[in-house]
Amino acid sequence: MGSKASGTGGAGGSGKAGASGRRVGRRAVLLGGGAAVLGTAVLARDELARAWWRLPGMEKKRVEGELDHRAAEWTSASRANWRRADRPDDYRIDRVVIHVVQGSYATALKVFKDPGHGAAAHYVVRKDGHVAQMIRELDVAFHAGSRDMNERSIGIEHEGFVDRPQDFTAAMYAGSARLTADICVRYGIPVDREHIIGHVEVEGTDHTDPGPHWDWDRYLKLVREASKARV
Ligand SMILES: [Zn+2]
Repeated sequence: MGSKASGTGGAGGSGKAGASGRRVGRRAVLLGGGAAVLGTAVLARDELARAWWRLPGMEKKRVEGELDHRAAEWTSASRANWRRADRPDDYRIDRVVIHVVQGSYATALKVFKDPGHGAAAHYVVRKDGHVAQMIRELDVAFHAGSRDMNERSIGIEHEGFVDRPQDFTAAMYAGSARLTADICVRYGIPVDREHIIGHVEVEGTDHTDPGPHWDWDRYLKLVREASKARV
């Protein structure tokens, strides 16, 4: 996520993070409702444009609760915060985008389940290394604030705050690295900083996550080790 929401992530894309867990007032509820209506309109347009994949045999079977990363626990994001797709057949997956929640694991799950939020990532990693999968990898999650990046990437959120290095625990790095290694092996994505990027590196973003305390050298080393063990 990051500090501010930026516009072009998909359905609305302008949801507030609510990272402080503040109470949602009546005005926020009304704004959320508006975002949800916009999301539905955008969704309808997208689905019309891509109607070919509704033809018999063109769509992959979906089973509620099915996981792409076997170590994860399934808990679904709101349907308003992602777009149905058939990746990697319709869009090639060649990027992993690293995010920091600016809040807790519980906050991330809560806002990604909120249809008014307008954004969500495929995965959320907790400080103890536990991983929640909220959106299937074949679908496009609204996490990067860029339609192009959303369509080609998988988004991973990490519990904590960008200005608190102590939030980035060894267990969280390890759990996240196993997840990213699994993704890279399955889609043939090179383990390097061109393909595993921070939200801050997405073109046109005003987000700063994962911030200066995210240890990229340490993370890439862990991902490399985990991907060797994985293949
Ligand atoms: Zn982010």
